[in-house]
Amino acid sequence: MKPQQQTVSLLIRENSQVKITNRSIKLELLLDNSQINQYANFQFHNYLFGLHQKYQSLKEGLVADYIPELQKANPEWFGISIVTTTGQIYQIGDYQQTFTIQSISKPFVYGMALENYGREVMLNKVGVEPTGQAFNSIELDQKNNRPYNPMVNAGAIATTDLLTVDSASKRLEQILKMFSCYTGREHHLDWSVFLSEKATGSKNKALAYLMHNSGMISNNIEETLDLYFQQCSISVSCHDLAMMGATLANKGVNPLTGKQALNKYYVQNVLSLMHSCGMYDFAGEWAYRVGLPAKSGVSGGLVTVIPGKCGIGIFSPLLDAKGNSVRAIRVCEQIARDFGLHLYNAVEPICDLAFWM
Ligand code: GLN
Repeated sequence: MKPQQQTVSLLIRENSQVKITNRSIKLELLLDNSQINQYANFQFHNYLFGLHQKYQSLKEGLVADYIPELQKANPEWFGISIVTTTGQIYQIGDYQQTFTIQSISKPFVYGMALENYGREVMLNKVGVEPTGQAFNSIELDQKNNRPYNPMVNAGAIATTDLLTVDSASKRLEQILKMFSCYTGREHHLDWSVFLSEKATGSKNKALAYLMHNSGMISNNIEETLDLYFQQCSISVSCHDLAMMGATLANKGVNPLTGKQALNKYYVQNVLSLMHSCGMYDFAGEWAYRVGLPAKSGVSGGLVTVIPGKCGIGIFSPLLDAKGNSVRAIRVCEQIARDFGLHLYNAVEPICDLAFWM
């Protein structure tokens, strides 16, 4: 609860969005509740502005090129968007720039499969164990005759295969509709990225045929691969990612439209997989450093969820060797540190996110 009235120190920094003076000044103000909210919002925007400026200058990493069409991305693109479970939106930079969702589609399509088949069937088909391997590694759990988890390509292809019960176009329509429920807007495919991946995705094809060989996926191999490449080619912005994250943070309900995108009983399953496997062979270090469920994709997108509070979507196409966005990781590390958001954090945060947003 915010107090009715309180005295706050307002520090307006040089180079801040609203430049009032060329030096730092400190003001003592007596504010009422709505002014406190405005002040908090302004300060949070200011915080995001500083964060964006700081990491825009970070030039480490490379744009993905193994899907040729992805090479066209501008390495300067950088957007951050935060959507709270109460529907507030904070964003900066290239938050409207669209890109293909790639692997970030995986937890959401897995959620859809959970709704269709339930936990036990899904556990039989696809495991939930981190691999410690690259996202496209040819690593299968031969003992249990299933891929290790739905966040690596093998598990995602097997999950998508489970959706192959209707006509091909109907399945794509269902997936697009599901994403619309999360984001509150219509989605389309980037067909040139789809064709580019279809033409060059030999490793995914090899994975699918291997899984088919050991009875892990059905006979519709080419159809399943097409659908997998299509789900990866859905066009989103980092604002959309933040909406998706906020929906997961809000028990599966889109905070702006009120629509249930995922049955609340499965939210914990999707989030726990994002927590243990969402960042591929960086998942352990991510859990250690940031401690929040997240999912990255090779276009440079990243979504992270602060349960009960908000979703964060970040986009910057410069990737590290593991295929995760360099700037997105650094931004999340800093936000988690500044606001004490690590799920197992036991130390009083310096800043309480609930006050600022
Ligand atoms: N479509 C990409 C692939 O299968 C997705 C990988 C990713 O984003 N990490 O290779």
